Amino acid sequence: MNIRNCSRCGKMFNYIGGQMICEPCKKALEEDFQNVKKYIEENPHADIKQIAEDNGVTTKQIQQWIREERLMFSEGSPIALQCEKCGEPILTGRFCAKCKGTMANNLTNTFAKPQPAVQQQPVKKETKAGMRFLDT
Ligand SMILES: [Zn+2]
Ligand SMILES: [Zn+2]
Repeated sequence: MNIRNCSRCGKMFNYIGGQMICEPCKKALEEDFQNVKKYIEENPHADIKQIAEDNGVTTKQIQQWIREERLMFSEGSPIALQCEKCGEPILTGRFCAKCKGTMANNLTNTFAKPQPAVQQQPVKKETKAGMRFLDT
């Protein structure tokens, strides 16, 4: 048992992982999210403050959904999100596709190491036989 205080309503609950909120709050939050998502589809030009007010959620909550890439904005949206790395305008999340790609690559490189110090030498005995000339 891992008893924590719900970060939304403050009640004690049995924490099982993920967000630090109790089950009833999780459900309520999911409903909020669906409302907000629908609201954004219907009001693509609303800014964060208005979305928060009209849906009874905090702007902080909306920003969290954006960071989690659960909310996506259209091109004409006044919500100007910027890549946290290069400042490019983005529609959701924290980084643009380019920076995400770079970071993913860096991650892969990190995982690819360490390589064996002594690399196996390719077998060379077939070099001659392998050399082929075009028949003309
Ligand atoms: Zn709660
Ligand atoms: Zn970027």
